[in-house]
Amino acid sequence: MSLPRTLGELRQSPFSEQRLSTRRVKDEMRDNLIAKLRQGGPIFPGIVGYDDTVVPQIVNAILSRHNFILLGLRGQAKSRILRALTSLLDAQAPYVAGCEIHDNPYAPICRRCQEEIAKVGDATPIAYLTPEQRYVEKLATPDVTIADLIGDIDPIKAARGGHELGSEYTVHYGLLPRANHGIFAINELPDLAGKIQVGLFNIMQEGDVQIKGYPIRLPLDVVLVFSANPEDYTARGKIITPLKDRIGSEIRTHYPATVEEGVTITAQESWTQRNGHKLHLPKYVQEVIERIAFAAREDKKIDKRSGVSQRLPISAMENVISNAERRAIHQEEKLVVPRIADVYAAMPAITGKLELEYEGELKGGDVVARELIRMAVGKVFTHYFDGENLSNVVQWFELGGTLKLDETVPSDLMVKQLSGIQGLLEKTKRLGLGASEPDAVRAAAGEFILEGLYAHKRISRNEETGFTAGERRREPEEAKKAKRQYQ
Ligand SMILES: [Zn+2]
Repeated sequence: MSLPRTLGELRQSPFSEQRLSTRRVKDEMRDNLIAKLRQGGPIFPGIVGYDDTVVPQIVNAILSRHNFILLGLRGQAKSRILRALTSLLDAQAPYVAGCEIHDNPYAPICRRCQEEIAKVGDATPIAYLTPEQRYVEKLATPDVTIADLIGDIDPIKAARGGHELGSEYTVHYGLLPRANHGIFAINELPDLAGKIQVGLFNIMQEGDVQIKGYPIRLPLDVVLVFSANPEDYTARGKIITPLKDRIGSEIRTHYPATVEEGVTITAQESWTQRNGHKLHLPKYVQEVIERIAFAAREDKKIDKRSGVSQRLPISAMENVISNAERRAIHQEEKLVVPRIADVYAAMPAITGKLELEYEGELKGGDVVARELIRMAVGKVFTHYFDGENLSNVVQWFELGGTLKLDETVPSDLMVKQLSGIQGLLEKTKRLGLGASEPDAVRAAAGEFILEGLYAHKRISRNEETGFTAGERRREPEEAKKAKRQYQ
């Protein structure tokens, strides 16, 4: 279907004056949302874990034609949700061709378009916007100015066109007018200076604003959406009251409620399908990575107000796979299978995402991160091996066995090493392993069991000797040696 190219053609098309002249963006989103709701299926595909909490509230806000704000800690998919709102816009939106603020052809607000339509009438050329072109996003910072957000008087434009300063012809439009006929998103709203908030409010409420002392009238048609950290938002004086009043709905986001949801989000967001080697990603490794974030969110040593972003497990996952990839390349193995050792090797993707409290600072980021990994391994291990008798394996160490697993050894060699511990590899059945799994898969599973026993303090592990008997059972001489290492 070819789209109408002039105002005259537009009038005769489904984009009729009757339908579009008074239809605001909020009506458009509402209409399209209602159609989606009738159709069934997900409203925002790819947004996981919000089906019963955040999504219904957003739906209500849009049905209510509200401007709204998402309140949540970092890494709770706030920006992603805001961007997904474009899926509720029409596939094609006609506007007056050449208009900087994308005027509605039936209700232009800028002088240029009003005059052009008066002059050429139905011959006025029409252009179209895609939903993505109708989304404007700005991260609020204290140095954002009225000029950035709303616009500036351009004296050169005035001189060239022979216009008076303050006429709409002399305005160089800022981001908000450029979002006219669309969605304008401001992230971290409380970081916007008070007087900018006033300007924002005026333009939304009254459709006018002062730029450099000149009153400018801009009755924009924009859906305003915001995001903020809840503490910043509720802190007294951070948001001017009239602006707060105009935000129809406040919607709280949250971290994934279950490990399963976290695993799904991380799998969706992390870069795992790479060129080259085939990847086998064990479920228990995914769960361990996710549990690190869960443990961190509970940990007293980590700042609760800033939260622990979902980007922690996402980046950790990418680093874990890379470490396994590096090993596969080095050993010329075809299959990449991440192990728990690779999780420990992913510390650079973890420590930077933890805002430590004083107690955590004292311990140091590395120590805190290691504790979190160990705790995560312990939890996942319990999930798979609760009630399983592993005393044979523990006994092997108690009888003096030690095993040092080097993260770079080839998988077949590691399987050989692990086979030396009687009964160990048979227990990998609990992790879903069959009889003829590739060595890399078996090696990773065997290592996980040892790491699990270590996490539960049934055996020990140190840099020098690798896995050994637990401290309680160890010979006095060895125990003394081990103690020395920690001093
Ligand atoms: Zn215009």
